[in-house]
Amino acid sequence: MKHRARKRFGQNFLHDQQVIDRIVACISPQAKDLLVEIGPGQAALTRPLLKSGAELHLIEIDRDLVSQLQKQLSDHSNINIHCCDALRANLPEITGNRPFRLIGNLPYNISTPLIFHVLQWHEMVVDMHFMLQKEVVDRMAASPGSRTYGRLSVMTQFRCNVTPLFDVQPESFSPVPRVCSSIVRLQPLKEPPADAGSFENLERVVSAAFSQRRKTLRNSLRDHLTVDQILASGIDPGQRAEQLSLSQFAALARSLSYDAS
Ligand code: SAM
Repeated sequence: MKHRARKRFGQNFLHDQQVIDRIVACISPQAKDLLVEIGPGQAALTRPLLKSGAELHLIEIDRDLVSQLQKQLSDHSNINIHCCDALRANLPEITGNRPFRLIGNLPYNISTPLIFHVLQWHEMVVDMHFMLQKEVVDRMAASPGSRTYGRLSVMTQFRCNVTPLFDVQPESFSPVPRVCSSIVRLQPLKEPPADAGSFENLERVVSAAFSQRRKTLRNSLRDHLTVDQILASGIDPGQRAEQLSLSQFAALARSLSYDAS
């Protein structure tokens, strides 16, 4: 029976073979890999991934699609299908604590929480290839001084190398989404690019600084750091968040740590 795309699960199925081939070429799956695909849907990416001979775990929330996948892929022994919400999935349990590569044409509404959910196991994540809204990829990859540089840029670049790969037009999907998409490669970093003391303090300072991005740090960080503390971090309190580098955010986060100790 033909599946009717469900909006609540962000179902836009990829049907453009050229795009599918290009994504799989970027991933370059190998037989030795352990792959986890989030939201396999109707197996557009799954089938070519299976050809590599890699062990593949699929995480799909839609029960109807899971039963279709079980029927259609029953010939393959290197596949495991998990019917659950990826936002709650315990990936080390699924993969038996082995390093894995993550792939997904993600539903737009869960993409950023999902990436940060997965990054709690960053030492096990070899790399991630995702199809996201183009605007989200632009924000993840943005540099200081650009209009799109913000909280998502800093928090992602603190954890990962971000490589935008290519854009995908809405017509490559069915149903056709309203927005343009992009493929991105995220590679978790072994060490953060600067010492922020604690990741929680970095999160606090970055979200306060960007919550009022037009304001100077003197004002946006008022509830967290004094002007003297900002100066002692080597930063001009008259600057705005969008001008600060990763290491400057790390310096502000360290000042918060001293403050708390
Ligand atoms: N991979 C397929 C493709 O490229 O055509 C489908 C992509 S579609 C944009 C997103 C897929 O993620 C759907 O199959 C949807 O049911 C599934 N999905 C949505 N929310 C999910 C969640 N929280 N956990 C796991 N899968 C989810």
